[in-house]
Amino acid sequence: MGYERNIMGMTIEELGELMMKYGQPAYRAKQIFERIHAGDAMSLDEITNIPASLKEKLRAEGIDVFPVNILERLESKLDGTKKYIFGLHDGNVIESVLMEYKHGYSICISSQVGCRMGCTFCASTLDGRIRNLDAGEMLGQIYAIKKKEGIKVHSIVVMGCGEPMDNFDNLVRFLNLIIHPMGMNLSGRNITVSTCGITEKIRELADMKFALTLAISLHSPTDELRRTFMPIANKYTIEELMKAADYFFEKTGRRVTFEYSLIKGLNDTKECAMELSRLLAGKNSHVNLIPVNPIKERKWERSSDNSVNAFKLMLEKNRINATIRRGMGADIDAACGQLRRRYLGSERPE
Ligand code: SAH
Repeated sequence: MGYERNIMGMTIEELGELMMKYGQPAYRAKQIFERIHAGDAMSLDEITNIPASLKEKLRAEGIDVFPVNILERLESKLDGTKKYIFGLHDGNVIESVLMEYKHGYSICISSQVGCRMGCTFCASTLDGRIRNLDAGEMLGQIYAIKKKEGIKVHSIVVMGCGEPMDNFDNLVRFLNLIIHPMGMNLSGRNITVSTCGITEKIRELADMKFALTLAISLHSPTDELRRTFMPIANKYTIEELMKAADYFFEKTGRRVTFEYSLIKGLNDTKECAMELSRLLAGKNSHVNLIPVNPIKERKWERSSDNSVNAFKLMLEKNRINATIRRGMGADIDAACGQLRRRYLGSERPE
């Protein structure tokens, strides 16, 4: 099943064709689009301005607004971060995070059920990729949280479970819908897409000129080390990745962010900081340092505060922009995929 059946993921043009097929006036497409993307309709029943007979006909053919229902909501006592477990039409579950920053609310969404990239520190990938999310299911996470909390969403990060570039067509469809002037009308500046580095897709996205922030999960300054814990590094070299990042900057004018999760004794050494400085020298980039969130299935440990600070200082000495991203919602399993796994396992969250 895909977007062609999920009304939430349809473009206004596709809705227009659908309405024509069902003998409906063209303005219905706009009515439906606005109720979903600018209103708060999360089901056909909530689109109250279209005839019931039309809804019946659509449902009979399996065309519907696919559910993205909140099954659980957890709130961090440390920083107010909220995590949500959603149920999908086929029984799969996914997770999203809501964070509040000075500039407003930010939502981190999932792009796939599971992931097949295999990064060894990440919980999302432990059971592989189950399926792609369609664009409506990506939007649904945002709309459901917005509705539940009654908030205005400032920014979106596609940084939850899954590899967005491994679900490229749905990602692009999602982006086009979220920036649509008749919908949420979000600016590209307030969108971040994070990838482990699928270079041809980075280039494709750059060619489409989405002026969004690209975040590349680098985590290592050398191919040799990167290959020991990120399987994708066997497919693309860091040199290729850097060229794709430069290309993205060239096409969009947007500074690329490099994510660097610090793992004790693995990639948090002085040598790594020096090597990373050399790699990024002269580039208009930014490094996000994230002390790794340990998962119980793996042996990796978080770098000490001292190592994290020393790493940052070394980068700054070499004139590389860096910030330490504080872990949010540590008490509610905020690491990618941890909450979902816990939900699926016997150990249900309280
Ligand atoms: N697949 C995409 C987006 C999802 S992961 C990507 O690889 O970028 C979002 C970010 O969290 C990535 O930088 C990822 O490497 C990082 N990450 C995953 N698990 C983590 C953990 N346990 N601790 C710290 N960072 C983690």
